[in-house]
Amino acid sequence: SEERSLNFLEQIVEEDIAKGVNGGRVLTRFPPEPNGYLHIGHAKSICLNFGLAQKYNGQTNLRFDDTNPVTEDTEYVDSIKADIKWLGFEWKDELYASDYFEQLYQFAVQLIQKGLAYVDDSSAEQIAAMKGTPTEPGKDSPYRSRTIEENLRLFEEMRNGVYKDGEKVLRVKGDMASPNMHMRDPLMYRIKHAHHHRTGDKWCIYPMYDFAHGQSDSIEHITHSICTLEFVPHRPLYDWFIEKLEIFPSHQYEFARLNLNYTVTSKRKLKQLVQEGIVRGWDDPRMPTISALRRRGYTPASIRAFCERVGVQKRDNIIEVSLLEYFIREELNRTANRVMAVLDPVKLVLTNYPEGQVEELSAENNPEDPSAGHRIVPFSNTLYIEREDFMENAPKKFFRLAPGQMVRLKYAYIIKCDSFDKDADGNITTIYCTYLPESRSGGDASGLTVKGTIHWVSAAQAVTAEVRLYDRLFKVDDPNSEEGDFKDYINPNSLQVIENAYIEPSLASAKPGDRFQFLRKGYFVADPDSTPEKLVFNRTVTLKDTWAK
Ligand code: ATP
Ligand code: MG
Ligand code: MG
Repeated sequence: SEERSLNFLEQIVEEDIAKGVNGGRVLTRFPPEPNGYLHIGHAKSICLNFGLAQKYNGQTNLRFDDTNPVTEDTEYVDSIKADIKWLGFEWKDELYASDYFEQLYQFAVQLIQKGLAYVDDSSAEQIAAMKGTPTEPGKDSPYRSRTIEENLRLFEEMRNGVYKDGEKVLRVKGDMASPNMHMRDPLMYRIKHAHHHRTGDKWCIYPMYDFAHGQSDSIEHITHSICTLEFVPHRPLYDWFIEKLEIFPSHQYEFARLNLNYTVTSKRKLKQLVQEGIVRGWDDPRMPTISALRRRGYTPASIRAFCERVGVQKRDNIIEVSLLEYFIREELNRTANRVMAVLDPVKLVLTNYPEGQVEELSAENNPEDPSAGHRIVPFSNTLYIEREDFMENAPKKFFRLAPGQMVRLKYAYIIKCDSFDKDADGNITTIYCTYLPESRSGGDASGLTVKGTIHWVSAAQAVTAEVRLYDRLFKVDDPNSEEGDFKDYINPNSLQVIENAYIEPSLASAKPGDRFQFLRKGYFVADPDSTPEKLVFNRTVTLKDTWAK
């Protein structure tokens, strides 16, 4: 792996180890909320948390942050576990914040007993109105002076279902004049008569993120709790709860979220794209989710390499999606076997090649990897080539096929175009050529050099396939910062479906997940939609970064 200097989190961990903090033990956690599928931003967080632990002989817990019953679902739990495993990481314990509900409740009781929390009957609107502004202090709630006994009784009644949603909340008795808005009597519990995916109907009060997260870290003895920058102003509260409860001192550290251009990485927005049918599902290959990247043909190693290259930043920025593409292109160039597929076919007949004869040509699978060996490609007098590889009136520098012009057929012969047929609409229907028998690849005795080489398939043996080509899902660099709704910036041409492409017969047995380079066309992966009757391929990425800004 590449040499690089330590990032700021590695520096912190190394200092802690040197000082003997926690006996040098490192335990991180990845804390997804099971309310959607993981995306590339989560991959960054996963690589960071698991990577940091691995580097320092530590471990990482997988903790589902499932404190919001309404949005959570076991479908998401299952997909999250599958995605982390696929990325190549193993967690220590699989844990759920909901398993700590009783302990968290007891923590809240302790804070009430210490006079540090109170039950507030104010409505959400009233609480917001009393909050103040960053430059003006807030106002104390009229319920702030309740006695400890009254607070204990009311909080228990909240738990016992005596009150309706929104009738009461439990708040920190903080400082309504604090310059940090998060310290102005933040909410600890709210009433929600809702079914929870794990605890069922046992609870009707649920802890807020700020009251659940740090204490869950502490319960698990997490040493380094890494989160994204928006939690910087929450850190004083994180530390305050731990200090007042006198529990294990986990510490929070923040890094910049990963943002990719031409996409959105917010579960809420991605969910909207799925629910409104703008994409075909969470794993639609145009999505930035891990499951979509997998279906698109990305490998775990390419995503890990990308996350490593992006590094750990302390300031928000937008990473170019072309960097992600660079890593998969790089890997597939080394590992993917080359094959021939014609995406926009036009028929080509070799008038001097014996009708009915089938020649078996040997084709190198991967010039980057001699151990990949060779395969057989059938050749005959009737072929398909790409429509764009022929021009009736070619400009001077068109080195492909044109009347009177010569080109080499990959792995085969030099051919010369003699004539062509057109239909009533002016479309080319058949191209007629002669081949040079002495020009066979590997034993060329023709003495000719031609500038162009094109790919082809033999018509009688070719297999029909559906090919899906993808473009950016959004038309603009940063759909989040544009005026109006982010969906106004969807690229209407992000998916092009080719129903009848012709592929060489060696691909007939391809299985979903198999990856290939289609010569001159890019890297492709067989899609799970493939059936025994028809294979389906997704283009993972083009051969070169040709996408124009
Ligand atoms: P979203 O905003 O997409 O809904 P989230 O933060 O609400 O994301 P969680 O399930 O709570 O999603 O995230 C789990 C972990 O992944 C958290 O520690 C979070 O900070 C981290 N994470 C989420 N999005 C990103 C991102 N874009 N870059 C880096 N880390 C991220
Ligand atoms: Mg979150
Ligand atoms: Mg979120």
